Amino acid sequence: MKNIVKFYPKGKVPAKEIAIKAKKENLQGLAIPMPYNKGNNSSEYTNLVNLKKELEKEKLELGLIAPFFYAPEIWEKYPNKRAKKSDVDWPSLSWYKPLCPIYPGLFEERLALLEEAVNKINPVFIGLDFFRFPLFWEELDDHMILKTCSCKGCSSLDKRTAIIYQMAKEVKKRLPNLLITIHLVPFIDTKTTKITGQDPKLLAQAIDSLSPMLYNNLLKKEPDFIINTLLKQEDYTVWPSLEIAWKDNLYLQEALTKYARILYFHWPD
Ligand SMILES: [Zn+2]
Repeated sequence: MKNIVKFYPKGKVPAKEIAIKAKKENLQGLAIPMPYNKGNNSSEYTNLVNLKKELEKEKLELGLIAPFFYAPEIWEKYPNKRAKKSDVDWPSLSWYKPLCPIYPGLFEERLALLEEAVNKINPVFIGLDFFRFPLFWEELDDHMILKTCSCKGCSSLDKRTAIIYQMAKEVKKRLPNLLITIHLVPFIDTKTTKITGQDPKLLAQAIDSLSPMLYNNLLKKEPDFIINTLLKQEDYTVWPSLEIAWKDNLYLQEALTKYARILYFHWPD
C-alpha cells in the first residue's frame, strides 16, 4: 500500500526539501494539481519536473491531479462554458465554478492540455478530478437536493453515464501508458450516479482505478461511511481518497492495506 498525499506546491520550499520531508513522513508519493493552461515554457512545469526528479531520488512517485471540468479562470473568461442552472448562471456563492462537460469542444480542449502536461512532467499516474457532470456534493445535506447543469444539452439524465464513460475511454486511449484513476463523488445511489454520469461499473472498464472521495468529516459522517462505501466497490480496483486526518489511523489502516494506493487530502505546507 502506497500512501500518496495531495500537495499544493507554492514554490517557496525547494523541491529537495519537499522530497526529504515526504520520505521522513513515510509517504510513497505526492499528487500535485496540474498546472493548466500555462504555456509550454511555464516555470510551473519546470518546477514539477524538478520535484519529480527529487522525489525519484527518494524512491517516491509523483502523480498529477487534473481538475477537468472545473477551471475558475475559464469560468470567469467564458461565461458560455459555465454550467447553467435553469437558464440562469450557476450560483456564484461558493468556490465551485463548474463547466458544462458537453459544451462543444471543451472536452477536447481540456484533454489536449492534460496531454501537454503529461508529456512535460511524465507522472506515474493521473487523477481525473471534476470528471463528471456538475454536482456540488461537498455541501449536500440529508435532503440531498442535487444541483447540476440544466442547459439544453445536459437536460437528459439518461445519457450522462454513457457520455462520461466515452470520455474516460478516450482519455485512456490517448494516454495508454499512464495509470489513470478517477475521483468519484462518494454517493453511489442511482439518482446521484445519473446526475454525475459517474457509473463505477462502466468507469472501472475504461480506466485503471476508481478513487471515491470518502471525506466523512467534511460530510459529517461516521468513519463507517468509508468502510461501507468501500465494501460496495469491492469488485473494482480502488484507490480510496481520504482526509489526511486518517493517515496512520490504526483502525482504518487495517481495512486499507489491501489497496495499492491511498490518496490523502491534503498535505499541509
Ligand atoms: Zn450543460
